[in-house]
Amino acid sequence: MRKALIAHVKRVVIKIGSGVLSNVAGLEDARVGAISTDICHLLDRGLEVVVVSSGAVSAGKGQLGITGRPQTIPQKQAAAAIGQTRIIREYQETFQALNYNVAQVLLTRDDLSNRRRYLNARNTVMTLLEYRVTPIVNENDTVVVEEIRFGDNDNLSALVTNLVEADMLIILSDVDGLYDQDPAENPHAQLIPVVERVTPEIEAMGGESKSNLGTGGMSTKLKAAKRAALSGVGTLIVNGRSANILARIFSGEDVGTYILPAQSKLSAKKHWIAFSKKPRGKLLIDEGGQEAVIRHGKSLLPSGILGVDGGFERGDAVRLCNLDGAEFARGVISYSLAETLQIMGKQCADIEKVLGYKYRDEVVCRDNLVLTIDEEEEVD
Ligand code: GLU
Repeated sequence: MRKALIAHVKRVVIKIGSGVLSNVAGLEDARVGAISTDICHLLDRGLEVVVVSSGAVSAGKGQLGITGRPQTIPQKQAAAAIGQTRIIREYQETFQALNYNVAQVLLTRDDLSNRRRYLNARNTVMTLLEYRVTPIVNENDTVVVEEIRFGDNDNLSALVTNLVEADMLIILSDVDGLYDQDPAENPHAQLIPVVERVTPEIEAMGGESKSNLGTGGMSTKLKAAKRAALSGVGTLIVNGRSANILARIFSGEDVGTYILPAQSKLSAKKHWIAFSKKPRGKLLIDEGGQEAVIRHGKSLLPSGILGVDGGFERGDAVRLCNLDGAEFARGVISYSLAETLQIMGKQCADIEKVLGYKYRDEVVCRDNLVLTIDEEEEVD
């Protein structure tokens, strides 16, 4: 069955966790070399690979005399600045020895939130792939503070999967995949080979446990898989510390946990609205408006808006919330906060009377609107 799944894969995003590349003492250079060799074998087969690699902080902390996790953000940022050069050097040496090239791509959440910068990043990565150069992506840790982080590289890898329209996401972790129980606590825990949909039950199996080295645990991997699924892409979570794991995957070996793509995928643009673009405000929608958007696939009109919150401009993303404040959709708004305050609750025919002009009837047009009912997004 795995053979059929990988048969169509031409472009793959491979996320490599800190726990795969390092131990508590810091980066294990030999691991970067081994995985790079494994990746080069995929390139030999004609695959296009985009790597999302963690490990900068663990590669750099030693030079700051830090053992364990750096405690402060400036320490993490300094460690990342030191470690990123080292980690890229390690990739480059192995790739070059095998006649391939790598390129460093450092991204922030703001880069992917801004449509113009998002498309620029996309063009650059696509150009690198055309030239058969493998992009090594990481978060630009040195300039981001906690509030504006992607959160973790699992999430970043799901956004990159959508960015480059990859056919598959592979998450290399320090565990074999998803187990039905915590294998550290229960020796009878069973590996789950296939997950059709990441349901709350599946998420509960992932638990909250955090690995010691990276920022994520199984829960962030499942969340990333959920997002990749909505790009129409399956995710394979495997143990990146097993020898030649990538070659084994592509020879059809049944390893790890495979999370299937969603049955109905979002277009790349709607996926970007749902997950990459940062929401700047909130609209409270009445029941009629909710019904129109959720059940009838309609746009949001001013008459359905009961309240607004936030400091958004025209073109920003906003959350559409029910009367309890729970988000059910997200979209790009056609009016600013000041304009929305004036037209909310009014009929479309009144927009021009109230404002003196009208961009359009819809406050959030269906083409720029995504239902997020299944997503429990953190409010930021
Ligand atoms: N960007 C961080 C690093 O390179 C890792 C973040 C993560 O693993 O989620 O060390």
